[in-house]
Amino acid sequence: MSLILDGNHAASAIKHKVREAIAESGTQPRLAVVLVGHDPASKIYVRNKAKDCEQCGIDSVTYVLPEDTSEEKLVELIRSLSNDDSVHGILVQLPLPKHINKDHVISAIKPEKDVDGFTKANTMAMLDGKFRFVPCTPGGIIELMRFYKIPIVGRHCVIVGRSDIVGKPMATIALWNNATTTICHSHTRNLGGICKSADILISATGRKNLIKPEFIKPNTTIIDVGMNRDKDGKLCGDCNPEAYERSSAYTPVPGGVGPMTRAMLLLNAVTAAGLKVRLDW
Ligand code: NDP
Repeated sequence: MSLILDGNHAASAIKHKVREAIAESGTQPRLAVVLVGHDPASKIYVRNKAKDCEQCGIDSVTYVLPEDTSEEKLVELIRSLSNDDSVHGILVQLPLPKHINKDHVISAIKPEKDVDGFTKANTMAMLDGKFRFVPCTPGGIIELMRFYKIPIVGRHCVIVGRSDIVGKPMATIALWNNATTTICHSHTRNLGGICKSADILISATGRKNLIKPEFIKPNTTIIDVGMNRDKDGKLCGDCNPEAYERSSAYTPVPGGVGPMTRAMLLLNAVTAAGLKVRLDW
């Protein structure tokens, strides 16, 4: 039987610790969340983030701007939040409307308030092994593996997907955790063979059924980041369900990586306010 890596369970343990740290410190972290336009999925994400913050004692303030907001106006808002001492963390909900250059907006966030870990300064720091703000999805994945005591050191970690928000930072984190790390992408030859050599397989492609049961050797841990819809419209990951059955442990979709991504944002928000949360499981 494969062990289910329950993201909701681990996330609620993290939330408990975040709540405690805030209550003990007497400091209330303040997070500014900026949403531009009316993408329905983004609206749901922002609402959920606000709910998480409220549950943990983080003061979150959401700025909702119209779809046709100019890049200049948006950058101006981010700069003013960056210079506002009462704001500890800033998050810009992605994707932004097409007329706005995301890099220009992200670079207006002060690195010490960059709770998504997307600024160049924080990306470069991570390459150097300085993990102040880790992007929320890979950060959440590593915390989930720690929570369930999945060994990482010396193991072969295969990451499928090389996006800036998941695959690349995940590879950096895996390397700094002393995993032997391989990154695959859409040009990779013999994907199945490489996956079959994985002790830890992390798939973040958004391609349902990409990971077949025959890609999985016994004792592999599967982390399925993908969020797709199956033919009945139900949420599913990148892995064929039989692939999970062959693994020693796996993250379900939904209920695996998603809640951990949200929990990581809370950890980053308290870090931005100068607080420390001890995750000694
Ligand atoms: P991107 O579209 O930015 O990246 C997808 C990656 O998958 C690319 O690197 C691409 O390769 C690779 N890829 C696509 N097809 C194949 C293939 N056939 N074989 C091997 N590699 C392939 O996606 P994101 O990283 O933003 O997100 C990935 C998935 O994770 C999505 O389903 C997204 O919804 C989900 N997600 C879930 C989160 C959560 O909290 N649960 C958070 C973030 C994302 P190439 O670079 O060559 O194009």
